[in-house]
Amino acid sequence: MGGDGERTVLTLKAKIYPDSEQERAIAACIEGYRRAYNYMVLYCSFSLRDFGRLPSFAELCRFSTLIWKRLPSIRGMYNNSMHDAARRALTAYRACIERGRGRPRFKSVRAARSYGYPKPQDFRLERKGGRIRLRLGKVGRVRGSRQEPLPGDPRTCTVVRKDMGTHYDYYACVTFDMGAGYGRGEEWPERDVSSPVGIDLGVSHVAAFSDGAVYDNPKGFSRDLKRFERLHRRLSETLPGTRAYDKARSRLAHAYERLTNKRKQMVEQVSHDAVFLHGGIVMEDLSVQQLRSISMSRRMSRLYADASLGMIRARIADKAQSAGRSVVLVDPRGTSQLCSRCGLYVEKGLSVRRHECPRCGLRIDRDVNAAMNILERGSARDPGPVRGPNRPAGRHGPADPAQKAAGRLPDLYHKIQELELKITRGNTRRRSYSARPMTTI
Ligand SMILES: [Zn+2]
Repeated sequence: MGGDGERTVLTLKAKIYPDSEQERAIAACIEGYRRAYNYMVLYCSFSLRDFGRLPSFAELCRFSTLIWKRLPSIRGMYNNSMHDAARRALTAYRACIERGRGRPRFKSVRAARSYGYPKPQDFRLERKGGRIRLRLGKVGRVRGSRQEPLPGDPRTCTVVRKDMGTHYDYYACVTFDMGAGYGRGEEWPERDVSSPVGIDLGVSHVAAFSDGAVYDNPKGFSRDLKRFERLHRRLSETLPGTRAYDKARSRLAHAYERLTNKRKQMVEQVSHDAVFLHGGIVMEDLSVQQLRSISMSRRMSRLYADASLGMIRARIADKAQSAGRSVVLVDPRGTSQLCSRCGLYVEKGLSVRRHECPRCGLRIDRDVNAAMNILERGSARDPGPVRGPNRPAGRHGPADPAQKAAGRLPDLYHKIQELELKITRGNTRRRSYSARPMTTI
């Protein structure tokens, strides 16, 4: 995980409260940004057609100066945001080419929800009496929500406007470059690396720890299904453009926001406990997609969505990295059936919630039993944190060369490192940082 050149970017997301004049300025910025983005996508496809290559970033920026001069419709936006639009257009185009999908979509008025300030000098972020205050180019000084201390010097800022039906909610996502050395466990307490925890993820208990802790599925959507159905029905029964329609949209948007917050809070809780309380983590090597594909009914699918398993895994891997804890992934086959004390195969269906061993008499929660098996498997596979005194504490450095030379389980070493890479890749670069659960936008 790391390579040394890799830098960690934290993102702080804060609600902001622009006044009506500032709302108009933000609207102009979003609209200008949208148009600039669309022009740049178009420019990219022309370049591709005529020259067989995408334009460089610098070339797109030169193009942006041109359209800025020619088109009054985009002049309402903050000028430097064009560079952000150029970056986004290029990224989107590259992603499309990679997947063989032609060009990215043009942004519609409805789909345009944000714009960015790409450089630290485009905005100012300060704290006043616990609250943050942002001075944004073209918009002015905007009041923000209460936040934890700022982690460092801000780099970029993205303003997001969320349509809540009757009104808009505004958020500022400010990124902080924490450098390459960040995340070596400074803000996490030292824990005994010789006592990792096994974690079993599932639906009825979203997570069970091998130390016996279990976390119930909040079942937000499944529980409020009737309410969501009613809200959706109300929306479809009202006429677009009327006050009743906006109100119905607002109700629905708020209901979904509460749902998201609920899930997010659960995810933060589980991942925090996993990393804060333990010196290392062993999880199943199982994609959530695979897990979900087992479930057939809509009821089960809803429960899976409520469990947010993908989010939990990603968040645990994230936090484990910043705390310098190891994450080991193991083969999950049979973990829920085997007895964690004596190893007897005790077959049980999904509905059987308790593990009761006829041989050794162990009687515990089914998921806790699975978590203990997972832990056992992780320890057996990698003698490091449990028995081997020669292994380095954090598993993020290169493998111990002495051990490799000794030829002890070299292929397993390789395997584990591969798995570690797999789980951490994609989560290491960008991580969300917020003082309290907030909405996803
Ligand atoms: Zn047993």
